[in-house]
Amino acid sequence: MANFSRLLELDRDCVWHPYSSVGADSPIYLVKSAHGVHIKLFDGSELIDGMSSWWSAIHGYNHQGMNQALSSQLQDMSHVMFGGLTHQPAIDLADQLIQLTPESLKTVFFSDSGSVAVEVALKMAVQYWHSKNQSDKQKILTIRHAYHGDTFGAMSVSDPENGMHHLFSKIITKQLFADAPSCKFDQPCSESDITSLKLQLINHHQNIAAIILEPIVQGAGGMHIYSPAYLKRVRELCDQYDVLLILDEIATGFGRTGKMFACEHASVEPDIMCVGKALTGGYMTLAATLTTRQIAQTIKEGEPGIFMHGPTFMANPLACVAGISSLKLLLGSPWEKRVNLIETTLKEGLEPCLAYSPVKDVRVLGAIGVVELNNPVDINKIQPLFVEAGVWIRPFNNLIYIMPPYIINKDDLDALIHSIIRVISTI
Ligand SMILES: *Cc1c(COP(=O)(O)O)cnc(C)c1O
Repeated sequence: MANFSRLLELDRDCVWHPYSSVGADSPIYLVKSAHGVHIKLFDGSELIDGMSSWWSAIHGYNHQGMNQALSSQLQDMSHVMFGGLTHQPAIDLADQLIQLTPESLKTVFFSDSGSVAVEVALKMAVQYWHSKNQSDKQKILTIRHAYHGDTFGAMSVSDPENGMHHLFSKIITKQLFADAPSCKFDQPCSESDITSLKLQLINHHQNIAAIILEPIVQGAGGMHIYSPAYLKRVRELCDQYDVLLILDEIATGFGRTGKMFACEHASVEPDIMCVGKALTGGYMTLAATLTTRQIAQTIKEGEPGIFMHGPTFMANPLACVAGISSLKLLLGSPWEKRVNLIETTLKEGLEPCLAYSPVKDVRVLGAIGVVELNNPVDINKIQPLFVEAGVWIRPFNNLIYIMPPYIINKDDLDALIHSIIRVISTI
């Protein structure tokens, strides 16, 4: 136990955590292990996981089959460079991704994180137009409340206020922003929802390489869920104004919204698509950017004839095996039934939250449940309440939200829901 407090002291003293400061007083919990949907802390307590470690651990933790696949790959190699060399794990995973994603996507660029997959998508779009002798098309258009990652390119297309663009004003690229749609998931898209984006296209299409969007669910920018009809309209406008459509499925991909990919709700196909997060079932960091044969071919035929990107750990074999193994598990499971059941339970279970005055809205889609509050939560006060209740739920800003592993059972899901209601009643 002495070890336990020493570790936490060291952590506080010198380790950065996501969106935090070193030496902050915010509560932090030392994890010993994780199995299934349970995270075990050093003090012996167990938490039911409501976060899937930020959308990724869809099968839960420490899965025997996945452990074996990774051990077996370790016997061959954990990594080799991808320049001039290739390997079966990368080829198999690329092949499976091409089969699983929308028909038009035929090529795969592997990278090590979601943010980098977004950078790659932006660069592909710009290089595509450059190859067509249209180098004026270098701007990216997106909508408010977007989140596409923390690197500079990804930040430039994320919400200016959430991303504190003013802090980085001299270094961040100025992109074009349109209003986010207000049409909810089951509503039609009215002309007023699309006007702002349409105006940007009318005025600037000669300079726009691509529109980037999170399809249907905007994640870290506010957990907004919008109508598939809006996405359909965006696709039509992209075609009309000769602008590429990049869909960022990093959070929504691999079944989370009830479809394998969220763009399927709208029967829309992107020109470029980013996947990450759940790609390896939460085992390893890996992401991919997929695009069409036509875009790949155009880049090949243009100047300089090669795509200008190549990460050191591109297509890491261990990560690719985790991806193959996770996809096999997913496709071999009744994931649609599970996600639908989670959706029904969340809808029914979270609705009573609306009766509490701090609550502004409750939204559910697939295995995503969101309770939006009128004011930001005091995380230092709220976080220990969830941990005392035996659940791992990590609110941010004014959002208490969950996206549990698909394998969660009814009792554990009920426990997550009840803890949310209990905590809200104390705010
Ligand atoms: C998490 C996320 C990213 C960034 O992925 P990282 O792996 O954290 O770099 C990009 N886009 C969306 C929609 C995300 O949810």
